[in-house]
Amino acid sequence: MTMIGDDLQQVNDRIAKACVTAGRDPASVRLLAVSKTFDSDAVREAHAAGQSAFGENYVQEGLDKIEALTDLRSSLEWHCIGPLQSNKTRPVAEHFDWVHSIDRLKIAERLSAQRPAHLPPLNVCLQVNVDGGANKSGVPPEEALALARAVAALPQLRLRGLMAIPEPATGFEAQRELCLRAHAVYQSIRDAGIELDTLSLGMSADLEAAISAGSTMVRVGTAIFGGRNYAKPG
Ligand SMILES: *Cc1c(COP(=O)(O)O)cnc(C)c1O
Repeated sequence: MTMIGDDLQQVNDRIAKACVTAGRDPASVRLLAVSKTFDSDAVREAHAAGQSAFGENYVQEGLDKIEALTDLRSSLEWHCIGPLQSNKTRPVAEHFDWVHSIDRLKIAERLSAQRPAHLPPLNVCLQVNVDGGANKSGVPPEEALALARAVAALPQLRLRGLMAIPEPATGFEAQRELCLRAHAVYQSIRDAGIELDTLSLGMSADLEAAISAGSTMVRVGTAIFGGRNYAKPG
């Protein structure tokens, strides 16, 4: 097996184990492979090892990979997980399958208006700022329900759930506590009658804690592809 294939296997084993520990069905958690800074060959290799969902932070970098992997397009699912500026929404609406980082209505409205009619609605998650950090992206928890209602009404979007990036914390219990905050917001929106099926939560370092707190999609980069070199452009 290739190195990426090996690492993928290990991550899938971690997910399965965390599900068993949490008393959850392993099929209830999806793996999103975060391929930012890695080239299309790395994505191709992961795909050959059975992975189909990939996350990108930077729009242009993602578009380049989507284009380079056109031959695999029907068996790949592309997720935009980075902060999204309003002047970048069109290519995202045209080429991605999911956006995790909706933090204001204007972005959602543009994505809905720009989603081509021949494509299925764009799957979206609202990014929630569960730490209250003023300079972090994400809607404050107390505004999440109102935004969810507004986004759910947009015709070319399908509201799937919430995404959160908790502050890095050390140790399972500290990580879990932050993850539970995200789950509480998720649950409160569902309790208000809005159908959600996705809590995008957990990365390489905290996926076990996220799964124990109810994550349904973990976004994993480093543990699959290795360390990132940000010195490279992109
Ligand atoms: C980079 C990134 C990840 C993956 O992080 P790792 O620690 O490499 O697993 C997940 N989510 C978001 C939003 C990211 O930017």
